[in-house]
Amino acid sequence: MNLPPPPPAIQIQDIRYTQIFINNEWVNSESGKTFPTINPTNGKKICDVQEGDKDDINKAVAAAKKAFEFGSVWRTMDSSMRGVLLNKLAELIQRDRTYIASLETLDNGKPYKDAYYRDMERCIRTLRHYAGWTDKIQGKTIPVDGSSFCYTRHEPVGICGQIIPWNFPAAMMIWKIAPALACGNTVVVKPAEQTPLTSLYLASLVKEAGFPPGVVNVVPGYGPTAGGALTVHPDVNKVTFTGSTEVGQLIMEASAKSNLKRITLELGGKCPLVVFKDADLDTVVEAAHQAIFFNMGQVCTAGSRTYVHADIYDEFVKRSVDRAKNKLIGDPFDLKSEYGPQVSKEQFDKVLELIESGKSEGAKLECGGNRHGTEGYFIQPTVFTNVTENMRIGKEEIFGPVQQLIKFKTMDEVVARANDTTYGLAAACFTNDIDTAIEFSSRIQAGSVWINGYSLSTPQVPFGGYKMSGIGREGGEYGLQAYYEVKTVVIKTNKKL
Ligand code: NAD
Repeated sequence: MNLPPPPPAIQIQDIRYTQIFINNEWVNSESGKTFPTINPTNGKKICDVQEGDKDDINKAVAAAKKAFEFGSVWRTMDSSMRGVLLNKLAELIQRDRTYIASLETLDNGKPYKDAYYRDMERCIRTLRHYAGWTDKIQGKTIPVDGSSFCYTRHEPVGICGQIIPWNFPAAMMIWKIAPALACGNTVVVKPAEQTPLTSLYLASLVKEAGFPPGVVNVVPGYGPTAGGALTVHPDVNKVTFTGSTEVGQLIMEASAKSNLKRITLELGGKCPLVVFKDADLDTVVEAAHQAIFFNMGQVCTAGSRTYVHADIYDEFVKRSVDRAKNKLIGDPFDLKSEYGPQVSKEQFDKVLELIESGKSEGAKLECGGNRHGTEGYFIQPTVFTNVTENMRIGKEEIFGPVQQLIKFKTMDEVVARANDTTYGLAAACFTNDIDTAIEFSSRIQAGSVWINGYSLSTPQVPFGGYKMSGIGREGGEYGLQAYYEVKTVVIKTNKKL
């Protein structure tokens, strides 16, 4: 991306919003408890945040239920007006973009220029996309047998619990609330405990934009407590979740045991990126590098298994290692930094432990493999060769800056190996041969397949996983389906009409 430098980041001294947001009001936790949020660049506390738990979730759900009542301001609002509000929220994010991007970098550690250009852009475009849908969510008239008139209505599901991960905190919140609100639902958002600050700031903009009280509620807190309370609540009609497959399974179980709430799960991945021998090496080395190292590898679609054709493998390894060694690591507020810390001590430890497993299981460490510096949660960009799918680093989602370069010879071999995983989120191939591209995209088991590019995802396209990478789709028109029920109305008529 050749973009101009973003406006200078804001040195945030005082965090404005650290309370729970219910009914467009800021409140303390019922328990009186707080939790610290940590700056991953130096491991120091940024501030304490009110810690929501079951009682706070109950209050937020009650507010969301009231806002959703038949005849409420929200339920009687023209659908086009919901679009006006979503567009207004997009404008406010644009207005405060520098501040929100700075807050995201402080709390999450991602490079400020990425927060400014990628995360904020994603928020704004997603809101605008769904703003355009609000008055186009419509049913059908159906020519039925016999004398009846039949039509369908696409009605909001109701109260939606939305559980957000820490890798794209603001963008993921908007990704979830925008389609839910477009359809006329009310929401209770539970941000990740590692990164609650931008969600709370966005809540203040929701109020400023003019959404009625109770339509959007944000309850920061921990997963098993605040998150868990949402997943078992009998008045919550739907839960949308992005995070680990293990927690996704817990959420599905909680839904089954409570009220069969609808669920959308966007879970882990071990995404194959396949480089056929005719691909342009300069382009693909960089694309494969970005695919795994963007956001310090903390991306569910990270290209974490790079399969390279045997004929070009050695050259590919050499160039990839050079690129990783030259990566500019440092303070994420420094515009020269391409790369910041992992989000938390827990993730830092987990990634380093997986790197150790790679070494002990016989993969060849080409570069990196250790922490970077002495402060914060930085890990050196790491490249392994001689990786096989039965090693932990070839099988498990590392969610960190660890590139696996794997040699293959034929299409049959690479498809079998790429599909040999419980995951199925995304895949990519690089080739100039259209037949190869089409065959690969047909045979691979993944919710998204990208050809000659990576992460080619915009607000208009559906996104979600095959197999244990998830259930349902988010994004675009498909993403709306998760947020409405189809009601069938059949009217008996005197005549066949
Ligand atoms: P996680 O799945 O535990 O957390 C994600 C969200 O779920 C957070 O808001 C968390 O508070 C909440 N949560 C946790 N337990 C819950 C429960 N029992 N009920 C309801 N909500 C709950 O992820 P993590 O522990 O922060 O990270 C672990 C691994 O998950 C990572 O290493 C990575 O592999 C994966 N992960 C994937 C994504 C993604 O984008 N798919 C995002 C974050 C983490």
